[in-house]
Amino acid sequence: MTAESPQQHAGNRRQLLRAGIAATAAGTWTDCLAEADMDAFSFVIVSDTHLGRKDSKTPEKQWQQGIAEINSGPGDFVLHLGDVVDKARATQYPRYVAARAELTKPIHEIPGNHDTTELFQRHVCDRIDRSFDHNGVRFVLFGNAHSDSHDGFITTSQLAWLTEECAQAAAQDLKIVFCCHVPIHSNGHPDRGWYVKPDNGQTEFYELLAEHAGRVLLCLHGHFHNGIRGWRDHHSVVEVLCPSLCYNQNRNMAEHLSSGNASGFFVPELRTGYTIATLGNGRLVLQYKPLGSEVGADYSAEWK
Ligand SMILES: [Zn+2]
Repeated sequence: MTAESPQQHAGNRRQLLRAGIAATAAGTWTDCLAEADMDAFSFVIVSDTHLGRKDSKTPEKQWQQGIAEINSGPGDFVLHLGDVVDKARATQYPRYVAARAELTKPIHEIPGNHDTTELFQRHVCDRIDRSFDHNGVRFVLFGNAHSDSHDGFITTSQLAWLTEECAQAAAQDLKIVFCCHVPIHSNGHPDRGWYVKPDNGQTEFYELLAEHAGRVLLCLHGHFHNGIRGWRDHHSVVEVLCPSLCYNQNRNMAEHLSSGNASGFFVPELRTGYTIATLGNGRLVLQYKPLGSEVGADYSAEWK
């Protein structure tokens, strides 16, 4: 259920249908989606809530406000991409879960480097690596953060599991969205330089991506606290870092992109907030939703 007005809904549908017509003519995955009577759907991406940061109650209040706004906005479900609490503060997990109880949509969380596996499993979700299917898309969630590193890690057994998930998705003609806290994409200054290094599973992951090029739509991450930032240089996959609900930092990314110091894309917005993603009919739209304000800047991509 969404709280979109009929007018908004019709407007979104028209936009997406226009995009869909263009995409169909180009022979994209729209064809598969049409066969399955696949309509566009929306979901919410929250990341880096960092409850307890600097021993302040503000992050908890931001989480409560975010939940209220998510409840009254569009989105079939919510993804939380990690760093549920700050520095693994044990007392903050029950507070996170108590606030979460007010959420009226299903939520799927993964841990970040500020979460410990033990506390995350005890309080938030007992299974970390898991998947669910929604509207013809398999969402594959996995933990790739270590509490003693800013880099990401994908183990051999996780790679085997990811390979099996992709094979099952292919057999069922599902598209794939990967979700893990630390990005896989190589990056350096002006970005953070934190990612899954080649020896830590990056090479094998991108080999798997290449095998399923066209089926994998998105890789979603948190971790950078730098608004909506991403790349699209591995096949047609969109790799996205999502904003923090707690705080974002200005790394002058717009200037670095325009001067050629960085590649990829950046949505010029850094207020605390979350993302509303709309996916379907060959098109992705990521709308930045600052807390307390209407949706503003967005990023869109098409599969052709
Ligand atoms: Zn974080």
